[in-house]
Amino acid sequence: MYAGRVLSGPGARTLVPDEVERLGARRVLVVVAPSSAAVAQDLAAALGERYAATFGRPVQHSPVEVTAEALALAGETRADALVAIGGGSAIGLSKALAVRTGMPQIAVPTTYAGSEATPVLGETENGIKATRRDPALAPGTVVYDPELTLSLPRGMTLTSALNALAHAVEALWDAGASAATRAFAVESADGILTALPVVLDRPSDVVARGRLQEAAWLAGACLAQARMGLHHQLAHALGGTFGLPHAELHALLLAHVMRVNLVAAPDAAERLARVAGGDPTRAVASLASMHDGPTTLHALGVPRDALREVAERVAAEPYPNPRPVTADAVEDLLLAAF
Ligand code: NAD
Repeated sequence: MYAGRVLSGPGARTLVPDEVERLGARRVLVVVAPSSAAVAQDLAAALGERYAATFGRPVQHSPVEVTAEALALAGETRADALVAIGGGSAIGLSKALAVRTGMPQIAVPTTYAGSEATPVLGETENGIKATRRDPALAPGTVVYDPELTLSLPRGMTLTSALNALAHAVEALWDAGASAATRAFAVESADGILTALPVVLDRPSDVVARGRLQEAAWLAGACLAQARMGLHHQLAHALGGTFGLPHAELHALLLAHVMRVNLVAAPDAAERLARVAGGDPTRAVASLASMHDGPTTLHALGVPRDALREVAERVAAEPYPNPRPVTADAVEDLLLAAF
């Protein structure tokens, strides 16, 4: 686990000022998703003299120009610590600032993406997304408050939870994953497959939201500890090239990749079947089909004639996967997802 401290539970966001004090920070820069602006205002008031400024425009895939803007604000306001409130975009920006300045970070996630649990950052420069891994990227404190996920719209709840499930599924078919990582992955998949339908049915059920958030935390730990395979390679290549919405892309790809990979990963297939209570690929496909937004690459706006090139690029990359990855097989998968 990368986070030094994890605080969780309904209302846990009110513990952030104490955490700031514990860090000895005097000037906090709050990095916040627009959807959590009101939460950031409350925090600014609670921080009092320890509040420096708010940067409220994080962008997906951490473009370096946005980081430069936030870095300038941190310099002008003499910030010495970061609190990130939001999804992977806000937390990604916080990581990009932390690694450039050495400022400590407190992450308060509001989606299920899991970035707060990893020492990984994907940054975009000139349209190309490059990923770096560095222990200095991982937030030292993570605050999980399920009340902050109550405002997640149905579509984002569904797709973000499937994004988390993808981390757990890929950890299960990573032959090099440790016993601890496999245990996290099973617990995470179980939590997501159990709690997500309840949350979709009763979006304001804070107990089910808490279970889902806990499962997403474990999924983030899987992302940090295991080697990701074909699914994350595809999401990275497609998302970076076409600037696609991260969670929706993961959600629509996952069942297609499971259909291809699970036949060659019997242990993962068996563990997932146990938590799904049946065919796990069918369970995931059924959840993904409940999304009322785009559920195909076509609907997301990916051009069909780009699929071969993406398949060739993804097949040429070196990464572990339960089945050998050929350009033809990846193209077939992409056509199915199209
Ligand atoms: P996001 O952070 O871009 O948020 C998506 C949208 O949801 C935004 O408009 C945001 O304002 C809104 N939102 C967030 N929380 C909300 C809430 N509680 N209520 C209402 N609206 C809310 O999306 P994401 O999927 O969380 O993150 C995607 C980004 O994170 C990508 O850039 C991806 O590369 C990165 N990521 C990185 C890692 C890592 O380990 N480095 C892991 C996962 C994702």
